[in-house]
Amino acid sequence: MSTWEVVIGMEVHVQPRTRTKMFCGCAVGHLGDPPNSNICEICTGMPGVLPVVNKAAVEACLKTALALNCEIPRHTKFDRKNYMYPDLPKGYQISQYDLPMSRNGHLDLDGHRVRIRRVHLEEDTGKLIHAGDKLHKAWESYVDLNRAGVPLMEIVSEPDLRSADEARDYAVALRTLLRTIGASEADMEKGQLRAEPNISIRRAGSDELGVKTELKNINSFRALHRAIEHEVKRQVEVLESGGTVAQETRGWSEAEQRTFSQRSKEFAEDYRYFPEPDLPPLELEAAWIEELRRSLPELPGPRRARLASQYALPASDATLLAAERELADLFEAAVKSGAEAKPSANWIIGEVAPKLDGAKPLDARHLADIVKLVTSGAITRDQGREVLAESWESGRSPEEIVAERGLAQVSDESAVESVVREVIAANPHAVADYRAGKKQALGALMADLKKRAPQVNPKLASDLLQRLLN
Ligand SMILES: [Zn+2]
Repeated sequence: MSTWEVVIGMEVHVQPRTRTKMFCGCAVGHLGDPPNSNICEICTGMPGVLPVVNKAAVEACLKTALALNCEIPRHTKFDRKNYMYPDLPKGYQISQYDLPMSRNGHLDLDGHRVRIRRVHLEEDTGKLIHAGDKLHKAWESYVDLNRAGVPLMEIVSEPDLRSADEARDYAVALRTLLRTIGASEADMEKGQLRAEPNISIRRAGSDELGVKTELKNINSFRALHRAIEHEVKRQVEVLESGGTVAQETRGWSEAEQRTFSQRSKEFAEDYRYFPEPDLPPLELEAAWIEELRRSLPELPGPRRARLASQYALPASDATLLAAERELADLFEAAVKSGAEAKPSANWIIGEVAPKLDGAKPLDARHLADIVKLVTSGAITRDQGREVLAESWESGRSPEEIVAERGLAQVSDESAVESVVREVIAANPHAVADYRAGKKQALGALMADLKKRAPQVNPKLASDLLQRLLN
């Protein structure tokens, strides 16, 4: 393997956040809508109808392109990409060929720049559903056109990725960026983000590109990683046994954990692209582009760097917080409400992030109060977790919950000392072990203490215990 270099480029299709389809007023709908419930004459390709460009889709595409540092040309147009397939009722897809909405951008991963060739707009196709009777060889195929005409942004990278890890990191970074700027929900499971890596290998040190294969049907970051690893291994085996890699499109089978040949790769000339005659070219006003540029929030890369320096956070914490805008916003709001930075980051990463999906919004002031209660020693960490769960669910203030449940931690020295003496009297063996030098016996004593008096300040109790034992 060490003599081979892996070269990966990515095409990522993303559904921008819009209410309606790319060229008609149909709702983009949801996964699981009844088949053919969001369709009209335009998106089913009836004769004599005219498409109209969805401005919200253009705006989302331009914001994405700007966030990816792309150049936006003054003129852009749509083209017809011609091919016949039953899920494509018009017999062509409206896409962009030689004048895309943007070019020449980049996305910086950790110390590694991935060049972006272009970000353009197009429309999705319908979906075929195959059913039938295997025994009697009576096949039936149905077509659902709900997806036909749904807007898609295509983000094309240069072949700058060198491993399955980098390809996955790139896709994750794109998702974070798209969510941060509000251009898409970019949910892979809902098909809103589809990554298609093209992969080739070459002898280390060579400048020539090998023959590439393109992978389809990938619906999670994990599958993306595995599919690439599998495909690289397959190509190495083919070349090392004296064979040649065929330029083709390959699918990924999640069940079998392998890639398989789908069809030989089409070349651009096969599609007979020509300008879409039913849509005028777009002239993008410089003032509008500037307005969109100014409307972009702080992007994940710069925010990660700022969180690390402004709050003296470790790089790993800053990366985790900046990965979700909601987490980073919560962190900054909690610190603003008076909580210390590092403990706030710990609470958000350890306790909030794993439960964020589908949860109600969490009041940053309440989180700040919990962090303060725990760092000041008023309540224990475990109690803090309990209060967080209750406050997040009910929206009530932590102080109210602490008072109601009588959770306040016992930090009164004489009260703690009497429990400590009780523990020493009840555990003669552990005490003898400890005094004989077995320091781990302290753990057993502390466990008994927590059982007898869960509200006791553990730091104070541990200090007292050691003082009385020595
Ligand atoms: Zn329609």
